[in-house]
Amino acid sequence: QPLIVMHQVHKIYDLGTARVHALRGISVEISQGEFVAVRGPSGSGKSTFMNILGCLDHPSQGSYCLAGYQVSRLPAKQLARARNRLIGFVFQGFNLLNRANALRNVELPMIYAGLSRQQRELRARQALQLVGLGDRLDHKPAQLSGGQQQRVAIARALVNSPQLLLADEPTGNLDSRTSVEIMAILQALHRQGLTIVLVTHEPDIAAHASRRIVFRDGHLIRDEPVPDPRDAQ
Ligand code: ADP
Ligand code: ADP
Repeated sequence: QPLIVMHQVHKIYDLGTARVHALRGISVEISQGEFVAVRGPSGSGKSTFMNILGCLDHPSQGSYCLAGYQVSRLPAKQLARARNRLIGFVFQGFNLLNRANALRNVELPMIYAGLSRQQRELRARQALQLVGLGDRLDHKPAQLSGGQQQRVAIARALVNSPQLLLADEPTGNLDSRTSVEIMAILQALHRQGLTIVLVTHEPDIAAHASRRIVFRDGHLIRDEPVPDPRDAQ
């Protein structure tokens, strides 16, 4: 069974005076281990789609099944627990706690998961080593470069061993050389079998994925494999 099964999902934002039909019947399946790039013009529904994938928002109509859970039927408390256990998030703006050092930032999701202080610290150290920041545990976000901050955010996203990594414009605030480093980390995670869904405006970034879906006006208008550049010659 695919990790993600969305069937005829609609999202309507009711603003009182107006209704915005942000998603208009999205059906999509994503299997374990896929690396999906999400593209489309501004306002086409990408963020709404990611919010539903991330269990941050419910569809107005249709069903969403994640790892066998019918998300739309889970009560709020169980939904929060499933989200913390199953999904890691990475954002354009890094979303780190500015007053906490790298180690404490990475420990955060494990506090919610109820791990002991010792376990948290051990796993946070390991996660930071994995993204090449083993020597920056004590640094606060302001003392790290943008690329290093994003690596802390990736370590934080992975520390509960999620089944799904959601990345919303993760390279949007980074220069192109640093973007390549971040994409190399995501590609390594993909090779290890992690399922990744990534929103990006940049074709060069989308080219690292294995599949591309394109939104327009709340519809999914394209869904195709990304050609492997090694096959291009
Ligand atoms: P392809 O490379 O297959 O032709 P496109 O470049 O047309 O794909 O991009 C796919 C989708 O992404 C389109 O809906 C396009 O409007 C949108 N898109 C491309 N570049 C940008 C951008 N810089 N900002 C916002 N949307 C973009
Ligand atoms: P994208 O991420 O592709 O830019 P969005 O999913 O953010 O697209 O937006 C899709 C449509 O839904 C847009 O018309 C946007 O204005 C609207 N929208 C998004 N979020 C909200 C919200 N919280 N309340 C009302 N309308 C929203």
